[in-house]
Amino acid sequence: MRKGSLQSQITSSFLLVVLLTISLFSIMSYAMILQRFSSFTAESGKNFVARNISIFTYYYETNGTWDGINEFFTEMPKREIMDFGTNPGSTPWMEIKPPEPDDTHEVPPSPDRLILFDDNGTIIFDSDPTEGEINLSKDVMSRAIPIVVEEVQVGMLISTNSAGFLRPDQINFIRDIFWVILASTVISVVTVVFVSLLLTRRILKPVHSLSAASLKIANGDYSQRVDVHEPNELGEMATAFNAMAVELERQNTLRRRATSDIAHELRTPLSVLQIELESLEDGLTDPTPETLQGLQREVVYLNHLVEDLRILALAESGDMVLNPITLDMGSLATEIVNRVRYTAAEQKIALTLYKVEGDLYLKADEQRVSQILLNLLSNAIQYTPEGGAIHVSVEKNGEWIETSVQDTGIGIAEEDLAHVFERLYRSSQARSRTDGGSGLGLSIVKGLVDLHHGKISVESEVGKGSTFTFALPIQAQS
Ligand code: ADP
Repeated sequence: MRKGSLQSQITSSFLLVVLLTISLFSIMSYAMILQRFSSFTAESGKNFVARNISIFTYYYETNGTWDGINEFFTEMPKREIMDFGTNPGSTPWMEIKPPEPDDTHEVPPSPDRLILFDDNGTIIFDSDPTEGEINLSKDVMSRAIPIVVEEVQVGMLISTNSAGFLRPDQINFIRDIFWVILASTVISVVTVVFVSLLLTRRILKPVHSLSAASLKIANGDYSQRVDVHEPNELGEMATAFNAMAVELERQNTLRRRATSDIAHELRTPLSVLQIELESLEDGLTDPTPETLQGLQREVVYLNHLVEDLRILALAESGDMVLNPITLDMGSLATEIVNRVRYTAAEQKIALTLYKVEGDLYLKADEQRVSQILLNLLSNAIQYTPEGGAIHVSVEKNGEWIETSVQDTGIGIAEEDLAHVFERLYRSSQARSRTDGGSGLGLSIVKGLVDLHHGKISVESEVGKGSTFTFALPIQAQS
C-alpha cells in the first residue's frame, strides 16, 4: 500500500473512526461496569453487614463482652447455619445448634470479610485477616453499622464491600473484564484494518482501471475502454469515461480524416490547374475563353474552399465575433430567397416562401444568419432535381424564431443523417466533388447556429426530400 494513496487514506480514516468509536465504547462500558459493580458490591456488602449484625448483637447480649468472639466464629464452621437471612430485625437471623457427632455439613465460604471494631478504631474481630490490613479511615468508619446493646454502642461492624473496597476475587473479576474489553478492542481494530484493506482494494479497483485508461488516452491511445460494471457512481463514471473515449476517438478520426480530406480537396483543383496551365504553356491547348473559364472555375472553387475553411475554423474555435443587431427574419428570408430565385428557376425548381405576418424580430448577426440560410438554400437547390420544389418558412415559436428549408430532393439516407453536420462529410447520395460542394457548408451552418445559441435539426427521406430547421433565440445570449 503506497503512502498517501487513496487506499491508505481510506484505511487510516476507517481505522481512526473505528479506533475512536471502539475506544470510547470500551472506556465507557468499562467505566460503567466498574461503577455498577462497585455500587452493587457496596450494596450487597451493606446487606451482608445488616444480616450479620444480629449475630454480633446476640453474642454481646449473651456474653456482655466481645471476649471469645474470635473463637465463636472459628467454631462456626462446625455448626449448622440455619434460617440465614430471613425475618431480619425481630428474632436473630441465625440459630446456632450444638454440633451433632456425625456433623458433616459444610459451611459455605463467607461471601464477604467482616470487621468489628470499637469507637477508637481498634479491630476486635476480623473474619479474614489473611486478606491484609484494612485502613479504618474516617470515611470507612462512617460507613460502618453500629452495634447497640441496651442503648449503648458496643462496637461497629463493616465488611470489605460495604466499606467501598473490592475483595481480591472481585478485583480479579474486574481485571478479567478489562482484559476481555481490551482483547475485543484489539481484535476489532485488527479486523477493521483487514476488512478495510480488502474493501478499499475492491472499491478502488475500478478507480485504478480508470486512471490507467486515462493515462493511456492522455498518451494518445484513444482505443482505451474500461471494463467496469459496478452498479454505483463508479459504474456511472466508467460509462461516462467510455463515452468520452468513444467521442475522443471519433474526434481524432475526424480530425485525421479532415486533414487528409482537405489535402485531397485542394489537390484535385490544383492538379487540374497545373495540367491546364502546362498544356497552355506547351501550346497543346489554346487559351480560348472556355479554357480560361474552366481555369477560373477551379480558382473560384479553391477560393470558396479556403474561405469556408477559414469561417469554419473561426466558428468552431469561438474566435468569431458576432455583431448582433435587431433583425427582421421575415425580410432577411425574403432577401435571401430572392438572391437564389434565379438559380432555382434555371434548374426548374419552384421556390416558395411562407412567413407569418407580424413580429419576426430577433437579435442576431445579420451576415452570419444570411450565410446559414444561404448555405441551406444552396444545398436544397443543389440536391433537388429539375421539377422539384423548395419551400422556405419563417415562424415564431415561443422565445425562438424558426426557419426551415424544405425540399423535394434526393434526400439523405438514415445512416448519413447523424453525420451531415460533420466537416467534409458527403452523403452516399452526393459523393463526388462535381455533384456536391466542399462538404463544409453544413458544418459552417452548425457552427454559426451554435454561436447564436440556436438549435438545428434535419429530417429526411431518401428520394422524397429533406427539411432543415434552425431556431434562433429572440434575445441574443452571451
Ligand atoms: P456540400 O458542400 O457537400 O453540400 P454540406 O456540408 O453542405 O456539404 O452537406 C453535407 C452533405 O449533406 C452533402 O454532401 C449532402 O450529401 C448532404 N446534404 C446536405 N443538404 C442536403 C439536401 N438538402 N438534400 C440532400 N442531401 C443534402
